[in-house]
Amino acid sequence: MKVSIIGASGRVGRAAAFCLAEENYLNELVLISRKRSIGKIEGEALDMYDALAAKGVEVSIKTSSDFDEIGDSDVVVLTSGIARKPGISRMDLGVANAKIVAKYSKKVSKFSPESIMLVVTNPVDIMTYVALKSSEFEKNRVFGIGNHLDSLRLKHLISKHFNIHVSEVHTRVIGEHGEHMVPLLSSTSIGGILLKYFSAFETFDINSIIGKVKNAGGEIISKKESTEYGPAFAISNIVTTILNDEKRMLTVTAYLDGEIEGIHDVCLGVPIKLGIHGVEWIIPIKMTENEKRDFINAAMIVKNNTHKIMSSLGKI
Ligand code: NAP
Repeated sequence: MKVSIIGASGRVGRAAAFCLAEENYLNELVLISRKRSIGKIEGEALDMYDALAAKGVEVSIKTSSDFDEIGDSDVVVLTSGIARKPGISRMDLGVANAKIVAKYSKKVSKFSPESIMLVVTNPVDIMTYVALKSSEFEKNRVFGIGNHLDSLRLKHLISKHFNIHVSEVHTRVIGEHGEHMVPLLSSTSIGGILLKYFSAFETFDINSIIGKVKNAGGEIISKKESTEYGPAFAISNIVTTILNDEKRMLTVTAYLDGEIEGIHDVCLGVPIKLGIHGVEWIIPIKMTENEKRDFINAAMIVKNNTHKIMSSLGKI
């Protein structure tokens, strides 16, 4: 099993690299960086080897600026791009990051044409679309980390409110990874029992909770400058699910072609079945009227913004 990470000197790239290396099923991990960052990723690799020796894990870690090295990767994780700073929205990064994502996606399709590409760069729904169109890969092989991290954040907050172990909470957030995310409360359960049947549901303030999920990234960035562990473990969940062909249902940014509410030609956070072939099934979920309205609204907004960014790249 071989995984390559592009933009590996960045905070998310290097944290994801360490999470993945620890998983004990990888044969090879390739860290790709611009030439100016090579020293940093060489240092990361040396530091990781020490930690992995302590854990008794063996994995070969290569560092390079040469895309030849990503050949025959099973999964390529794209984390390159400008990160948010306090007061900067994900959309503000759109035009600059689209150029980076378009350039690197073409390289992935040239040097590792059979791989699955996981996009992390923000605004991730739009960047997934850019990566899909630039790589010309099949739609099942390019997707974004999307709402997986938002869903994990919601899961944690529900577990705290209902005072129950986090593993008992099944919930998801769909739509945009941003202001227009939609919590799927109607199908959220604890241990298989719908949320509304718990007495603590009466004091559960979804607006306040989803506000916290929306602001989670911004709050972390304002306090420690970047998010690292959350995205890194979310990336590791997704890559592990693919490589072990687990067929788990996760919420990632996938290309929609009419599967949900007839929405077409946009990349958006939706529940999917994930396995060795990437997105194996986009699950046509049932929603309440409000959830449906908010999801369709998110789709329209992301589609408009995608159109603007694709125009800036000269692709429309
Ligand atoms: P970071 O620490 O600033 O690292 C970004 C890396 O991208 C840099 O180290 C560099 O890697 C590469 N890079 C920066 N500018 C570049 C340019 N002009 N051309 C080519 N490569 C460039 O940022 P981060 O915190 O790791 O975040 C990386 C991206 O992930 C951001 O867009 C951020 O918003 C996004 N993100 C997404 C999620 C999510 O849930 N979707 C969560 C967290 C972060 P090399 O020098 O090694 O090439």
